[in-house]
Amino acid sequence: MKIAPFAKVEPSLTVTINTLAAEKRLRGQEVYNLSVGDPMLLCHPKIMESAIKHTANLKMNYPVVEGIPELRKLAVDWMNTTYQSGYDIQNTIVTCGGKFVIYAACQALLEAGDEVLVPSPYWVSFPEIVKLFGGVPKVIPSTVASGWKITGDDIRRHATPKTRMIIFNNACNPTGAVYDRDEVEDVLRAAKEKGIVVLADEVYSAILYRDKPYVSCSSFHEHHDNIITVQSCSKNFGMTGWRVGFAFAPTGILKIINNLQGQCTTGTSLISQWGAVGALENASEVSGYVRNALFKRRQALIETYKELFGHAITPPDSAMYVLVPISDFGATDNDSVKFANMIMDRANVAVVPGAAFGAEGFVRLSFSETEENIVKALRKLATFLSK
Ligand code: PLP
Repeated sequence: MKIAPFAKVEPSLTVTINTLAAEKRLRGQEVYNLSVGDPMLLCHPKIMESAIKHTANLKMNYPVVEGIPELRKLAVDWMNTTYQSGYDIQNTIVTCGGKFVIYAACQALLEAGDEVLVPSPYWVSFPEIVKLFGGVPKVIPSTVASGWKITGDDIRRHATPKTRMIIFNNACNPTGAVYDRDEVEDVLRAAKEKGIVVLADEVYSAILYRDKPYVSCSSFHEHHDNIITVQSCSKNFGMTGWRVGFAFAPTGILKIINNLQGQCTTGTSLISQWGAVGALENASEVSGYVRNALFKRRQALIETYKELFGHAITPPDSAMYVLVPISDFGATDNDSVKFANMIMDRANVAVVPGAAFGAEGFVRLSFSETEENIVKALRKLATFLSK
């Protein structure tokens, strides 16, 4: 069959590692997982209770495409009280995960040849989704020295007349970097100046390990016309498998995104939406449950890493990952894919190569597994490398 050019996206580099891991498990081998971006936690009981209570006597007809009003109202209230977003219920729809918002926003806004600024290190899916619609990802590199953050001037330098959008991921997967208020404003100002839409991916906003509050792009009301905010229950409420996300945006673009989801997914499963109602009715309790578990796991990873490899990791401010140089493990070249494949192949330890995030020479270690499993995986790696 002839495949359409834009459908030829790269398979995720994580797929190779996960395929190897699955094969090993099938052969009865233990795999030590530091690769997954999924808080390995039992679902909070309030989520299950709500899903069961509200759906036991419900006819499971199609959902309304934009999401049940109860959930949209809770999502808006959560954003407004937690992040001073100033949104109205008409500014939100429920989607099948945050990922669908990124997909649909790109479909709605990009024409072939349009450029999209993607600060690196970036989440693996951003460039590939942009390419699906003929868009051209333009990477803005950041460095350890800049705290893995970009500035408004970086945007000004990289923007061209073809630039249509920036995907601004705060807090960032894979670095855990979180932007301060003045830094967010700087990015928004530069984007507006250049006429660039800000796709603000904020799906880790509630998984915060620092004292300073999280600043959402949406708290800058004067920029609302230019921002599509991506939110999700996946990470913030430990609900990855439920597939519930939200788009927040001006009504015009939101209607287009909703029409796209009407034609693509027909909306989000009702049982998932009622589960999300349980999460948002108890937002601080449920996100606190996830955040506290991940905080302990972060400590376990950082302490064990220092003990075994002798290198200090700067604790990330958010999310569930650290990005570390492969030189920490004695690698003599910069090839993160080779290194990740080698330790998977020979030590059964799964990590994601930095190349997947535009960060060659690094690997991403996730601390979403239990403390016991994190320590076990790092010990396994240290033993293998010491041979
Ligand atoms: N954005 C970022 C930065 C992510 O890391 C992920 C998932 O890993 C997503 C979006 C997608 O999340 P969801 O499960 O809501 O589709």
